[in-house]
Amino acid sequence: MRYVRKIALALALAVAAAAPLTLPASAQETREWRQPNADLSLTILDTGRIAMPDSYGYKGGPDTKQDWPILAFLVQHPNGTVLIDAGCNPAFATGKAKEYVGFIYPLAKLIFDLPQMTPGQDVGSQLGALGIDPASINAVIATHGHIDHIGGVASLPASVPVYMGEGEVPEFSRWNADLNGFHKLDIETGNDFRTVPWEAEGLFGFGRTWDYFGDGSMVLIEAPGHTPGSLMVLLNLESQPILLTGDAVYFKQNYEIPAPKGNLFLHKADSDSTKAMQVIERVRAISQEHPDVLLLLSHDVAQFPSLKIAPEVYR
Ligand SMILES: [Zn+2]
Repeated sequence: MRYVRKIALALALAVAAAAPLTLPASAQETREWRQPNADLSLTILDTGRIAMPDSYGYKGGPDTKQDWPILAFLVQHPNGTVLIDAGCNPAFATGKAKEYVGFIYPLAKLIFDLPQMTPGQDVGSQLGALGIDPASINAVIATHGHIDHIGGVASLPASVPVYMGEGEVPEFSRWNADLNGFHKLDIETGNDFRTVPWEAEGLFGFGRTWDYFGDGSMVLIEAPGHTPGSLMVLLNLESQPILLTGDAVYFKQNYEIPAPKGNLFLHKADSDSTKAMQVIERVRAISQEHPDVLLLLSHDVAQFPSLKIAPEVYR
């Protein structure tokens, strides 16, 4: 009887070994993730603040409001210069917020505090201050289409194309777009809004990626959940790998506890909370398996003081 069991086990193992790989494409790690590039640099632009309760950042957090930073990221590479996210529309810096927000202004003010910006804090002005002609930017890559990530495109020339993930542009046309954080004016700037041409290779358990410069130095990662087209960006700097999480993660608590995000009256932090939590779980796995990766969160109040802000540069 023991021999029969042994033979059965051996047969089962042989069949398993001979079976073709049945993992779904999303689970295949076909990209080599660590490809450092000595010529790649990152400059973090501080583009404003928005007051939000911690309980919106992560469930179980206190209801006290804090000023969340709003960041944009300038990436320079020998083959191009791109902005990842663009902060808010410059209207918030020039006293034109009411015109920009439009009819929803009273409701928006009731639910959210409006973003705070000072003149010169829009990305267009900040590029100029760094000696970079905004017209020389090859592309904006928006981690998603919310007003605090794409509004600043209005401060750039219309010749700069803007990339977003699949399913993001239709969000601007929904009846409740504004309540969801999308504002139609942000894609009526005359810029060319394109969908990221996703490639099948997965990374860190995520399904699709886009190797922007073709050398592994900057890899976009499809991570829907916060919004349908949300994405993250891996920057393979020589000194360290940095993962820009966009708003897939608000605070460290999201992946450390782990804890989902919260809600704010009629506004849900994530458009698909199940997918959003899957992304948080994968980020949690990255934090445990690759502690050398700096997880750079777009709005983490506690992380912000540790960041180098323009004109300082990460290389
Ligand atoms: Zn945001």
